[in-house]
Amino acid sequence: MNEPLPPSLAQIASCVAGYDPNALPVAQAQEFIARLVPRVKAVEMVALRSSLGRVLARDVISAIDVPSHDNSAMDGYALRGFDLASGADTLLTVAGSGFAGECFEGEVPPGHCVRIMTGAVMPAGLDTVVPQEFVKVGDDTAQVRIPAGVVTTGDNRRLAGEDLARGDAALRAGRVLRPADLGMLASLGQAEVPVWRRLRVAFFSTGNELRSIGEPLPPGCVYDSNRYTLWGMLQRLGVDLIDMGVVRDDPVALADAFRTAAQSADAVITSGGVSVGEADHTKRVMAELGDVLFWRIAMRPGRPMAIGRIAGSSGDAGNSAGHNPGAILFGLPGNPVAVMVTFYAFVRDALLAMSGATAQPLPMLRCASIEPMRKKPGRTEYQRGIVTRAADGHWQVRITGSQGSGILRSMSEANGFVVLGHEQGNVAAGELVDVLPFDGLV
Ligand code: AMP
Ligand code: MG
Repeated sequence: MNEPLPPSLAQIASCVAGYDPNALPVAQAQEFIARLVPRVKAVEMVALRSSLGRVLARDVISAIDVPSHDNSAMDGYALRGFDLASGADTLLTVAGSGFAGECFEGEVPPGHCVRIMTGAVMPAGLDTVVPQEFVKVGDDTAQVRIPAGVVTTGDNRRLAGEDLARGDAALRAGRVLRPADLGMLASLGQAEVPVWRRLRVAFFSTGNELRSIGEPLPPGCVYDSNRYTLWGMLQRLGVDLIDMGVVRDDPVALADAFRTAAQSADAVITSGGVSVGEADHTKRVMAELGDVLFWRIAMRPGRPMAIGRIAGSSGDAGNSAGHNPGAILFGLPGNPVAVMVTFYAFVRDALLAMSGATAQPLPMLRCASIEPMRKKPGRTEYQRGIVTRAADGHWQVRITGSQGSGILRSMSEANGFVVLGHEQGNVAAGELVDVLPFDGLV
C-alpha cells in the first residue's frame, strides 16, 4: 500500500499565512502544528468501562429507540386527556396498575385510569399522567378525583425515542468519552466500544546540569522537574508514556535517545537545549536526525521551540515512500514554566488530534483584573492567575507573584492562565481579561 507522503515542513510553512519562524504568533504556530500532525490509524474494541477517556473511532448509531416505549415520568395515574373535565374536577375509575418494567395489559375503557409508576409503559390508549400528589383518593380506592387544572393532555409522559431515536447518531467519532457517554452507550446495550489505539509518547530532559531524584546535587545543578510535570500532563491526556530519563549533552547519547524514542513512539517531547545561542548539541542532533524547525514564538513564557519529524531509523524523515515518516518532535524550552505553557498552548491539542479527538475549544472565564497588569503588544502572554469570586458574584483574577519562567511555584499557586492576546497592551485594574482555568486542563 502506498500511503501519500506527508507534506514537508517547508510545504506546511508555505500554507500558513504570515509564517515567520523568528517571530511566530501563537495562532500561526498552532495552525502549523495542526497541519503537521497525523492521526493514529489503528482501531481497537474495548469493554464499555475501559472506554472512559478514550477517543471514539466510529460514529455510534442507535439501533433502538431509547426509551423503547412511551412511559410515565411520574408516580401517579395514567389517563386519557380526553376524559379531563374542563374547569371542574374529574372523577375516574381505577382499572388496574402498572409498575416499572411491567405493562398494564388490556383495554382501558373511557372514564378509567391506571395506577402507574415512573418508567412504567403507558397503557394502550392513555396519553397523560397525573402525579399522585395532586390526586384525591377517597375511601373507595377504586375512584380518584383529579382537581381541575393540575394536568393537561400529554403531561408527564416520556415518548418512545425521545432520548435517542433509532437511526440517530448517538455519539460521533472523535469524541473523548465521558461518564454520560458511557451511560448512553449502556442505554443502547453496547458492551464494547471502537476506540483509536492509544498514542505513544516518549519524553526526556536534556542538560548537563540536570540531576535525577535520588542523586546528590552538586553546586550549579538542579533536579530535573520537567519530566515530572510532563509526566503529569501526559498522564491526564491518557496517552501511553515512555519516560527516557535525563539525557546528557553528548551527541552520541542524544542521537541514540532520539532514535530510540522515534522508533517506539508517535511523538517525542524533549525539554531544554533549544534556545538561541544554546551551546549544547541538542539542536544539531535534532536537525541531523530529522526535518526540524527552530522557532522563536511571539509568546511569554516559552519563546524557543523546535518542531518537526524525527526518523526512527536511518534515512531522511518523511522522504522515503512506504516508510514510517517518523515521530513528531516537540522540542520544548527548558524553563519549567515555559514547558508547561508550551505544552498547553501547542502540545496538548496536537496530541489530542493525533489521538483522533475532534478539536474542542477550551472554555475561558472572563474575569475582572484586580490590579493593573503589564503587557507588551506583539506577543501572547500566559500569566499565572488566581481566580476568586467577588462578593457581588463576579469572577476576578490577580497575578501570582513573580512571573519568571523558571518559577514553577507560580504554576502551583495559580488556578488558571490569564491569556493576554497578541495585540493586547497593559491591562488596567477592573478591565476584563480571559482566563483559562486549570480545572479540566491540568
Ligand atoms: P535551556 O532551555 O536548556 O537553556 O534551559 C533553560 C533553563 O531551564 C535552565 O536554567 C535550565 O537549568 C532549566 N532546565 C532545563 N531543563 C530542566 C529540567 N528538566 N528541570 C528543571 N529545570 C530545567
Ligand atoms: Mg540546557
